[in-house]
Amino acid sequence: MKPSKYRVVITDCDHGSIEEEKEEFDRIGAELILAQVKEEEDLIGICKEADGIINQYSLLTRKVLENLPKCKVVARYGVGVDSIDIKAATEFGIIVANVPDYCMDEVADQAIAMLLALIRKTVFFGQKVKAGHWDFRIGIPIHRIRGKTMGLIGCGRIGMEVARKISVFGVRVVAFDPYIEKGCEGIQLTNLDTVLMESDFISIHCPLNESTRHLIGEREFKRMEKKPLLINTSRGPIIDEKAFIQALEEGLISGAGLDVLEKEPPDSKNPLLKMENVILSPHVGFYSEESISELKRRTAESVSAVLLGNWPTSLVNREVMKKVNPALSKRY
Ligand code: NAD
Repeated sequence: MKPSKYRVVITDCDHGSIEEEKEEFDRIGAELILAQVKEEEDLIGICKEADGIINQYSLLTRKVLENLPKCKVVARYGVGVDSIDIKAATEFGIIVANVPDYCMDEVADQAIAMLLALIRKTVFFGQKVKAGHWDFRIGIPIHRIRGKTMGLIGCGRIGMEVARKISVFGVRVVAFDPYIEKGCEGIQLTNLDTVLMESDFISIHCPLNESTRHLIGEREFKRMEKKPLLINTSRGPIIDEKAFIQALEEGLISGAGLDVLEKEPPDSKNPLLKMENVILSPHVGFYSEESISELKRRTAESVSAVLLGNWPTSLVNREVMKKVNPALSKRY
C-alpha cells in the first residue's frame, strides 16, 4: 500500500460519522485520524505529525500550536473560532479556516417558521385541539400577513435570506445594520428606532459582541409602537431577558419566537416557559441533515485546499497571508 502523502487529525467532533471527511481525504491520498482528545498533552501527542487539523471544541492553545511543526492549517467545524488561539496560529504561520455560511437557509427558515407559527397561532391551536378545544375563536385575533412590515436587526447572510424569503408573503422589509451601506433589493436600510417603531415583526440577525449585548432592552421595547412579534435566532444575550419578560407581561410585544436564550438550557422557573404567546426551540436553527453534511464536507475541503497549495474558501486569519503562501512557504 502506498504511504499517505499527508496526515490529517480531527481533534474532536460530536458528529455521528466522519464519512464526508474520509471521502475528501481519500481523494487527496491523506491519512485521517479521529482523535477525540481535549487535554493539551494528548492534543500535542496526536497532532505533532499532522499536516492539517480539524477541530470542534478542544482548545488549540498557544502551547499546543507551538508544538505542531508540520501543521499548515486548522479548520474549525462551524462559524466561531474561539477554540483556536488565532494570534498564535498566525504567528506560527498556520492558516485558520472556518465555514461561516453552512446553515444560512436553516436559520432563516427557523426564523420564518417561528414567525408564521406565531402569526397563525399554530402551536397554540395545536395544544388547544389536543386538549379538547375545537374552537377557532379562542385564538382571536389573527391578522393578515400581506402588507405588514418586517424589521431586521442585522442584515448579513441570514438577515438577507430572511428578507428574501419573507418578501414572498407580501411583507415590506426594513433593516438596521450600521456596517452595511446598501441592503439587497427590497430592503430599506434605516436606523434602529425606525425599525422598532414601524415593524409588525422584528427578527434579530446580528452577532453577539460587546456592542450588541442587551441591544434590545427596556428603552427599545418602549419604542415598539406596533406591539410586534419578536424573533431571535441569533444569540440570547442580544435581548435583555428581564426587560423582555416585563415587555411581554405589559403587552408591549404580542409574542415571541426564540431559538436562543440568555441561559441555555433555561431554568425550569423561567417565566418564558409558561407564556402561551412565546414559542421556543433548543438552539436548533443551524441544524438539518444537509447542513451538517455540508459543514463536514466543506471543513475537510478547507484542509485539503491548503495541503494542495491553495487558500481555503474562508480564511479567518488574513494576516497569515503576509507570512505564508500555501504554494511557496517554507512551512510547506
Ligand atoms: P453575518 O456576519 O453575515 O451578518 C451579521 C450582520 O450583523 C452583519 O451584516 C453586521 O454588519 C451586522 N451587525 C453587526 N453589529 C451590528 C449591530 N450592532 N446592529 C445591527 N447589526 C449589526 O452573520 P450571519 O451568518 O447572518 O449570522 C448572524 C448570527 O446568527 C450569527 O452571529 C449567530 O449569532 C447566529 N446564528 C445562529 C444559529 C442558530 O443555530 N440559531 C446558527 C448560525 C448563526
